[in-house]
Amino acid sequence: MTQEEVFKKLVAHCKEYGFVFPSSEIYDGLAAVYDYGQNGVELKNNIKRYWWDSMVKLHENIVGIDAAIFMHPRTWEASGHVGAFNDPLIDNRDSKKRYRADVLIEDWIAKQDEKIDKEIEKARKRFGEAFDEAKYRETSPRVAEIAARRSEVRARFAEAMNANDLEGLRRIILDCEIACPISGTRNWTEVRQFNLMFSTQIGSVAEGANTIYLRPETAQGIFVNFLNVQKTGRMKLPFGIAQIGKAFRNEIVARQFIFRMREFEQMEMQFFVRPGEEMQWWSRWKETRMAWHRALGFGDEKYRFHDHEKLAHYANAATDIEFDFPFGFKEVEGIHSRTDFDLGSHQKFSGKKIQYFDPETGESYVPYVVETSIGVDRMFLQVMSAAYAEEPLDGGDSRVVLRLPAALAPVKAAVLPLVKKDGMPEVAQRIVDMLKYDYNVVYDEKDSVGKRYRRQDAIGTPFCITVDGQTLADGTVTVRHRDSMEQERVLVEALPSLVEEECSFRRLFKKLNL
Ligand code: ATP
Repeated sequence: MTQEEVFKKLVAHCKEYGFVFPSSEIYDGLAAVYDYGQNGVELKNNIKRYWWDSMVKLHENIVGIDAAIFMHPRTWEASGHVGAFNDPLIDNRDSKKRYRADVLIEDWIAKQDEKIDKEIEKARKRFGEAFDEAKYRETSPRVAEIAARRSEVRARFAEAMNANDLEGLRRIILDCEIACPISGTRNWTEVRQFNLMFSTQIGSVAEGANTIYLRPETAQGIFVNFLNVQKTGRMKLPFGIAQIGKAFRNEIVARQFIFRMREFEQMEMQFFVRPGEEMQWWSRWKETRMAWHRALGFGDEKYRFHDHEKLAHYANAATDIEFDFPFGFKEVEGIHSRTDFDLGSHQKFSGKKIQYFDPETGESYVPYVVETSIGVDRMFLQVMSAAYAEEPLDGGDSRVVLRLPAALAPVKAAVLPLVKKDGMPEVAQRIVDMLKYDYNVVYDEKDSVGKRYRRQDAIGTPFCITVDGQTLADGTVTVRHRDSMEQERVLVEALPSLVEEECSFRRLFKKLNL
């Protein structure tokens, strides 16, 4: 199965099992907007909890807030979003499709890497055992040619992006002979800038309505509250403010399911530090955040850092954590050193002093900021793509199983009476009642036990607990484990600690060494 097919199946699975639905589907949906279903919302909440607790509970010097989506319009002038939150767009005249010029070029660059990998694979087959990859990379003229062209384009791309040179971007697209994937032609328009913020009106027209924006990032709600939190919480540098909330971007191209949405959710933490200490904190946060991802156990090789070629107007260092999605390595999280740009700019635009008095040095200054910013929905897609597996079973059958980390699973245990009689449903219900205050558990009595197992595998439930004839005699049940499919007999009283052992967040948190 190709990765593309895997991805299609994953999208279908998300819908079939109540994880993600297209928004307003009965009206044929709304592009790049999605709703989370009964299992999706549980998984999403668990992801948020994993993030929130690891930030706010496990760091003494990080606190949380929940700011409003609407903010004073001057906020977005100060942050630079009114002037510079643009993407370069280009249209293909034949297909009438719109693209982000930078993404077309990035995809071309990624294709050159794939070409090099293919050359290497070919050579590996040709030379067999004796193949020396490092040497081949150095000496193959074909690999050298592709790599040189790739580096040349990369450098031109970085230069054009940094200089906001739209014609330069267009030239790269033409020189690399990039064609529209739909029409196959290279009949491109000029490249134009497009502002990604959604705007609306606040107040009635009679009062004189004002244009305001739906926030394109949650970070600004933290910056404008810096002094409120610092003073009321008597916070001392270095300290952080965390927030989870909706953000809105009028993305030019909607694609790859919930990877790029127009309404999405962010988990952002702004960490305020002394000027001059930001690089050291940036490196620390890179490591801390990478450890958070890796603790989920999907495999360290699935993650990598990607340093930015083009720095945003506010940053002096930036990296992305990329995950190996079915459509390639893509950004899940950004870790940015934002300098004193935001606080300094709000100070200027608001006319209010936003400074920190450092009791150790006796000075007042605008703190520097290191930000960690991750999309909840992209994290959701990461977890789903890593967890989804199709497995052959004995006897020619197969199953779809979501190998979710137990703490994130929407349902922790399904309680199944073997048959709907002989007092088994009553015992099963008592087990549900025993577990339900601490965990999301379900009761299921429909169909054969085998079918019920399959249903739970498909949503990633770690435990199936079956009540049978023996339960009534000796107070034991069968516990079937999702991944190994092994079954064991345990006493009903032992169930809470069994579920706790496997499903608690503590297990994940301990791996973080915080
Ligand atoms: P991209 O380059 O993919 O557009 P970005 O660099 O603009 O992303 P940031 O502004 O750094 O993204 O936003 C931080 C995080 O928010 C991203 O790492 C991503 O997880 C998430 N995010 C950003 N835009 C979207 C979107 N349109 N849909 C879903 N998540 C998003």
